[in-house]
Amino acid sequence: MVIFKKAHDIKVYLDTKKGKNDHIGFIPTMGALHAGHVSLIRAAVDNGDFVVCSIFVNPSQFNEKSDFDKYPVTQEADIRMLIDAGCDVLFMPSTDEVYPGGYEKHTPVDFGYLDTILEGALRPGHFQGVGQVVGLLLDIISPERLYLGQKDYQQCLVIKKLLDERGNAEGPELIICPTKREEDGLAMSSRNARLTEPQRALAAVIYQCLVSIQSKQHLDRFQLVCKECIDLLEKKGLKPEYVSLADAETLEIIEDYDPSRKMVALIAARIGDVRLIDNLVIN
Ligand code: AMP
Repeated sequence: MVIFKKAHDIKVYLDTKKGKNDHIGFIPTMGALHAGHVSLIRAAVDNGDFVVCSIFVNPSQFNEKSDFDKYPVTQEADIRMLIDAGCDVLFMPSTDEVYPGGYEKHTPVDFGYLDTILEGALRPGHFQGVGQVVGLLLDIISPERLYLGQKDYQQCLVIKKLLDERGNAEGPELIICPTKREEDGLAMSSRNARLTEPQRALAAVIYQCLVSIQSKQHLDRFQLVCKECIDLLEKKGLKPEYVSLADAETLEIIEDYDPSRKMVALIAARIGDVRLIDNLVIN
């Protein structure tokens, strides 16, 4: 695996790969890698891509400074994991490299409705930061395929919109990979490393709630199931921020189960000062 820190250098290197039947598959990450990230790398390897991964903890997408300051950094282990997974190139730029003029002077991207609900409503500026960094990374890497995890469901729709707005006819193709979970169902996340042992044991309740939203869709009204979930999360000591049901294509919030639509259940909850999100497509 070749590691680059400078945008110019990786661009020059990747230019030598283009036109040689190599499809570049790109996986942007913030590091502290786990099996969820590795599944994205593997999907790109299995597609026969020339695999490029980036590790960059993007300051502009953190709406809480303490979350940014405490974001886990495990560089050496990350590099080992990427080599084992079959990654070809790692891009590890500094903040100055990604934002030579600073990240404050940014033309906002119009994500419309998507930026006003759920994560968009609760984390002001978050998706602007995500859109800003993914746009810049795509300019540098110019991949044919972009791999994202369903774990960040709303982010997938935001990036889909970003790609539409960029109006880039020849790509990249967006590939959304399923959420990797721990044995007890907890969605893998870099932030899980910040949970204490007792917190970690409780965290699987988020997935249990998603499964109960799914399994009760023919039995009960969503508002009742939602209330049960909020009560259960609170009983376990979590602070739910939302337990929502939405149209899986548009993320329009829906009040009750509607079998005529593809639906996704989404939860955000805090355990101590760690904020976790998860989702499940329920039909
Ligand atoms: P992050 O490093 O958290 O920014 O995540 C980088 C990419 O990995 C994003 O596309 C995430 O959606 C994806 N990802 C994170 N956790 C998981 C998981 N448990 N399963 C699958 N993909 C994931």
